[in-house]
Parts: sequence; C-alpha cells; structure tokens
Amino acid sequence: MLTSDQINEFIQTNNLNSSVVCLHSAYKSFGGVDGGPETIIDGFLGNDCTMVCPAFFYESRTFPPTANYQNNGVDYAKVPEMRCVNYQENTEQIEACMGAIPRALLKHQRAVRSKHAGGSFIVAGDRAIDLLESQSHLNVYSIYKNIYQSGKDAYIVLAGVDLTACTPVHFAEELAGRKLFRRWSVFHGQIVEIEEGSCSEGFGNLNEQVSHLETVAKLGDSKVKIYKFRPFIDALAAAIKTQPDITHCADPSCIRCQDMVAGGRSDLRVASR
Ligand SMILES: [Zn+2]
Repeated sequence: MLTSDQINEFIQTNNLNSSVVCLHSAYKSFGGVDGGPETIIDGFLGNDCTMVCPAFFYESRTFPPTANYQNNGVDYAKVPEMRCVNYQENTEQIEACMGAIPRALLKHQRAVRSKHAGGSFIVAGDRAIDLLESQSHLNVYSIYKNIYQSGKDAYIVLAGVDLTACTPVHFAEELAGRKLFRRWSVFHGQIVEIEEGSCSEGFGNLNEQVSHLETVAKLGDSKVKIYKFRPFIDALAAAIKTQPDITHCADPSCIRCQDMVAGGRSDLRVASR
C-alpha cells in the first residue's frame, strides 16, 4: 500500500518539489494507495508542486452539417451520428480514460479547470493562474505553451502509462509546425469551434527519441518515467520535423495520422456536399 511518506520521498528524491508536474498515470499501476487518489494529489501539492492533468470530455462533440477544413483528420462523408451532450464544465464531465487522479483533482478545492469545450486541463498549485493565461477554445495546449516558455522547472511524469497517454506530445507536434485539427462542441448550449490533438496510438514510436532524457523510478508498484519538460518537447519536435511519419499509428488507413503526417489542418475549406 503506497503511503504519503513514500510519495513525499519520491517527490524529494526526484527533485520534483516546487515544480510543475504534468502527471499522466494509470491509477491501478500503483497497486493500492492509502487514502486513495487524494493522497497522491495532496503529496504533490504539499511539496509545492503545481499539478497539470488533462480532463478531456468528448461527448459534447458535434460536426457542422457540411464539409469544412481540408486535411482535418476527418472524412466528412462518414461522420457518425453523435449524442452531443451539453458540456457545462460539470466535475462529472470527464472521460473515464483520463483516470482516477484527474477525476479526483477536478473536485479538489485548490484546482481550477481551464476553459475549453473538450480539451480542458485541471490545474492545482501556486502557478495555476499563470498557466491558465491565454487559454481559449482555439488554443488547446496554451498551458503547455506557458510551461515551455516560462523556463521554470517543469516535468512530465508517466506512471504506468507510455507515450500514447502523454498529451504533451501533441504540443511537440504543434511546435514542429503541424496545425491542429478543428472540431466542434456543444458548450453551455452553444456550438463552438475547438482545437484538438490527433491520433496518439503511434507515439510509442518516439520512445528512442527521449530515452536519453528519462529518469526511471518506482512509486508503489508503478514504474514511473520522468522527463524535464522542455528538453522532452524539443527532442520530440525535432524528431517529428525530421521524420514526420514517425507518429503514424499501425493502421495505414488512419485518416487522422495521414492528415497530421501531411502537416495537419489546412485553412482551405472543402466544398459543401
Ligand atoms: Zn492513427
């Protein structure tokens, strides 16, 4: 059973205290936590970390009735019927695959959720307000941009998950010059246009590009990989620029990977059907 003392030791041994921590985790990988996900959250916040986790919600997704941007990772002729839940920034409105820690963090008294109708982040800690600057529906990774530009200590921590669950890789794609896809979402009853990351199933191909930057540690039963934020992003952006198809997943017909490898969204519009 993982205890708060062990979490403190992990944070201090790996010099994570007082830094920004982008945490991506499979909660079960810890093998049981005394006090639940809140113990992990309180461990980081108690060591003056600012936590950043994705809190995405896909069920509010909709599409315009006609075709739209070219090279946008979607075949407009095959857009399925969607349920289109109204996203009202409710703390229950988070995808299950985001995991137990982001879900618990959403309800934490010190946490703030960024305003984005699909790709919101949940942030807690002293630097939360700074990191939320410049957020908008068409700037989904503004928090990562702020971390990258600040020059202050920041880390990516992957606990029991691999690069396919590492959202900052999408920011590296953007830094490499790719234009993110646009989607549409029902937000407080209005349809808004949003920016969104592409397919991440091929991100495991990038392991070798960052293996020299990783620190491997244990937290409970979880194998944890820790990377300094900026060198991690720089290494991946350089690799994606040099070899764009490195991010392509195993499905050769994946339209999101095809379009992103080709540079992402074009501002040209396709003809309406
Ligand atoms: Zn793909």
